[in-house]
Amino acid sequence: MDKRRETYDVDVGGVKIGSSHPIRIQSMTNTQTEDSIKTASQIKELYDSGSELVRITVNNEESAKSVIKIKDILVKSNYNVPLIGDFHYNGHTLLTNHPETASILDKYRVNPGNVGSSDNKNFSEIIEIAKNNNKAIRIGGNWGSLNKTYLERTVVDGKKSEDYEDIIKNALIESVLKSAEFAEGLGLSSDKIILSCKVSSVSQLVDVYTDIAKKCKYPLHLGLTEAGMGDEAMVSSVAALAILINQGIGDTIRVSLTPDQMGVRTKEVEVCKNILSSLNLKQFKPKVVSCPGCGRTSSSYFIELTKDINKHIENNMIRWKSNYKNVENINIAVMGCIVNGPGESKHANIGISLPGTNESPSAPVYVDGEKVTTLRGDAIKDDFLGIIENYIDKNYEKIN
Ligand code: SF4
Repeated sequence: MDKRRETYDVDVGGVKIGSSHPIRIQSMTNTQTEDSIKTASQIKELYDSGSELVRITVNNEESAKSVIKIKDILVKSNYNVPLIGDFHYNGHTLLTNHPETASILDKYRVNPGNVGSSDNKNFSEIIEIAKNNNKAIRIGGNWGSLNKTYLERTVVDGKKSEDYEDIIKNALIESVLKSAEFAEGLGLSSDKIILSCKVSSVSQLVDVYTDIAKKCKYPLHLGLTEAGMGDEAMVSSVAALAILINQGIGDTIRVSLTPDQMGVRTKEVEVCKNILSSLNLKQFKPKVVSCPGCGRTSSSYFIELTKDINKHIENNMIRWKSNYKNVENINIAVMGCIVNGPGESKHANIGISLPGTNESPSAPVYVDGEKVTTLRGDAIKDDFLGIIENYIDKNYEKIN
């Protein structure tokens, strides 16, 4: 990975965002914010699944009032999760009318394209409130909501310009940078500003962020907007975010997925965790490296064993985490034959090389690069799980 692009550090409710800190995962609720019980419960679920910050919609008087109740529920149940208010069109009015909400929220997300006044009056009001409350803001441009002045550039002689995409890309960058400059001009300090430029195409997102990363030192919030649903959406988000993160660009991430059903939101947090873990930036649970199988695989046993190990990790992770420090960093390999089996097993902390077609029906096990035993027969699974448990107990520092 390239060196992380240097940025200011922005404090959002105690979570620091910027190049001297790990990339932060965030997500957004899809409950009606007016329903404080449901919203607080989804915030807890997102936080428990690994979202370090949570954004909530604040779009009317009722939702602005509800923020106070939501915070109260979270505090009473010991959830210290930074809350970001998502404002469009009427943010200036809601934040002015609800000073307690303005002081409770840890960051305001504002889109300069729909803040609602050509003279920047509404945006200025939000900046004043952020300054008075010592809050950070995210200036979040979106190519779907650029204001009229920028859109006019895309029309040449009454027709859509052939350079439409480039014009939009440059306008988006210019728009957020100008808004940030304007906010600083009003006295908001540079370490209170995070930027995002959302587009829905992978290549455009990579272009836009590569460009804006060179032009400022504000931390960048990465996310592909309106990514869609299912595998395709997930792959698009992973592709875009992985390319940028690997270039050292991006300080906080969100994967926006249309959920299978309303109220289920943790999938996007899981995808964020998998992106960071696959780039070796942070491991959240033991990694199981398993081969895909091929014509040399003698049976489906390697699939069953991989599933059993993953299940064992899932069932024991809470216990392990509360008993052993850094246990999530363990790497396990499950391989299907001698071709890559021993080699890959030696790279892992614990690896097993199952017998392929025409190989002797035995499974050598490697621990930290050394062969320690050979397993055979029906007990392979239980013996191997036992080796994992022993390894953890011997090698990870116990908590208390
Ligand atoms: S390790 Fe063996 S079984 Fe697995 S994919 Fe490679 S060659 Fe095939």
